[in-house]
Amino acid sequence: MADQVLKLYKNVYITEDIIHNRAFMADMIAKGAIKVSFVEEIPDGNVVMFSAHGVSPEIVKICEKKGLTIVDATCPTVTTIQESIIKDSKEGKTIIIIGNKSHPEVIGLAGCISNQNPFVVSNEDEIDLLPDMQNSEVVYYTQTTLERFVVDGIIEALKRKIPHIKSVKNDYICNATLERQEVIKKIASQIDLFIVVGSKHSSNTMRLTEVATRFGAKNVIRIDTKDEINEELLQNVETIAITAGTSAPEYLVQDVLNFLHEKIKDIEIRNFQ
Ligand code: SF4
Repeated sequence: MADQVLKLYKNVYITEDIIHNRAFMADMIAKGAIKVSFVEEIPDGNVVMFSAHGVSPEIVKICEKKGLTIVDATCPTVTTIQESIIKDSKEGKTIIIIGNKSHPEVIGLAGCISNQNPFVVSNEDEIDLLPDMQNSEVVYYTQTTLERFVVDGIIEALKRKIPHIKSVKNDYICNATLERQEVIKKIASQIDLFIVVGSKHSSNTMRLTEVATRFGAKNVIRIDTKDEINEELLQNVETIAITAGTSAPEYLVQDVLNFLHEKIKDIEIRNFQ
């Protein structure tokens, strides 16, 4: 979508990285995207592109008021969560979001709550700070990129404090990241070098890195591009696994595979998808 939009319009403004991937964003800026801090800075009548993480209804209103053409690249899963939060909020339910307060997805989700100040918890300790919710219908939502193990702990703690709390649909951890986490758990202990392709500020990439480390991979590296793999890393290595954050474009993963093919002559590839 970003490629098409940049070909179609001259000035395309963004306020957030469309996806949390450095290589992709550098390419997008090179192709003419203009990054500003706030939508208010975008000259009226221009084009704004929302990131995969979504924005709050308030931001949409500001953009409409400025006569901006909106290109909405919000991930469909995030849009579904936003719509559900808006509905629950209108019905007067108390909403708790499990996630990282400063992540754009969580900021956008919190902005969909209109009937209360948003309650966002990122760990079990913060649950103690929540007010008494005995007399209200309470639902929880999750940021899409969290780790299953961590979320389960927070949900259990929430249920202890608020036994009548409900989730709308189990929760919304992204299937693409969950599947990768599950495969990593199964194979990590047999891996000498685990390569995670993705950027440091990509939440789901960092979760994959943590899971690979926790489940026993001997060496885990997170890389933006193949250029970060050096000869030393490949020495005395028999098994290598490659995974990628959902925001890592396929061509970056393919680059890594091609690089390994060049460096290691008799490599055998197995696909765990
Ligand atoms: S992690 Fe999954 S749900 Fe979240 S924005 Fe990316 S693809 Fe969508």
